[in-house]
Amino acid sequence: MKAAVLEAVKKIAVRHDVAPPQIGPRDVLVRAKACGICGTDVHIWEGDFFPTFPLIPGHELAGEVAAVGDEVEGLRPGDRVMVDPTVTCEECHFCMINRQNHCLKWNAVGVTRDGGFAELVRVPAKNCYRFERVSFSEAAFCEPLACVVFGQDRARIEIGSEVLVLGAGPIGQLHLQASLANGAAAVTVVDVVESKLDLARQHGATEVVLADNALQAKLKKIAPYGFDVVIDATGIARVLGDSVQYVKNGGRYLVFGVCGPQDKVEISPFEIYRRDLEIIGSFAIRRTYDRAFKLMERGAIDVRKLLSEAMPVEELPRGLEMMKRGTAPMKLQVVF
Ligand SMILES: [Zn+2]
Ligand SMILES: [Zn+2]
Repeated sequence: MKAAVLEAVKKIAVRHDVAPPQIGPRDVLVRAKACGICGTDVHIWEGDFFPTFPLIPGHELAGEVAAVGDEVEGLRPGDRVMVDPTVTCEECHFCMINRQNHCLKWNAVGVTRDGGFAELVRVPAKNCYRFERVSFSEAAFCEPLACVVFGQDRARIEIGSEVLVLGAGPIGQLHLQASLANGAAAVTVVDVVESKLDLARQHGATEVVLADNALQAKLKKIAPYGFDVVIDATGIARVLGDSVQYVKNGGRYLVFGVCGPQDKVEISPFEIYRRDLEIIGSFAIRRTYDRAFKLMERGAIDVRKLLSEAMPVEELPRGLEMMKRGTAPMKLQVVF
């Protein structure tokens, strides 16, 4: 089968002779139809997340069931499925306290085991969500949406709150829509690209602000006391350091965008103490795929404008380069 294989750091090869995966009794073989390219793929490609080589990346997967294991019930070849990539042990300390995203044997399809940049993918049957109402391309957005739903839970967006979203890429656009769905009274979105801000407006942003030299003054005018929740969806450490000031006293800062493991920011502990701030992290998915699936199937979150390019797997290296340089206008997907 055809697959993009990461053979070493920054060395990805698209091969046509990869052996199709063998499935176990509780597995499903999924024929990939759409798989999103994510900032995390760039980190994996650059060796940040200590991948074990060779690895087929791709964790934002939707496709068609090609075969099912002997013990699988409720799924048949031909079913259209979206895939929760998370594989946890359900036995360790963290699984037992319902923090499965910190499972001591945490695995994820396309991160620690072979994923969706391949024609055929082995996934546990319980990770498959059968769908009908949306396209494969939309369905592949369910994974990042499940991460966003977890982030929203972590940030505890309350009805009537004022939210600031930094970064209007696909993740920022999802946080914008999810914050509104959670009852935020106003969501302000910041970016350096006008067209992304236009899209944010279409998705219901109450204010959009171009990040230039006057950013601070503009945000102070919109929210003189700051925002109840500030969400970083840029993954740029400097942005984080510069934007804690926009959190209202007693408010929360959600660190959602993925910075590099070596990045550092300067934050004043006195400020955190004096202003009752909460700085909150949010890693991957914690039992939130099912809710994201419903938001997706019911159309409560609209992802149709978030896809900027669908490319064949041969072009994955170009897609990763675009992601790294920040030149991808919106989400890129590999399609089969
Ligand atoms: Zn991702
Ligand atoms: Zn575990």
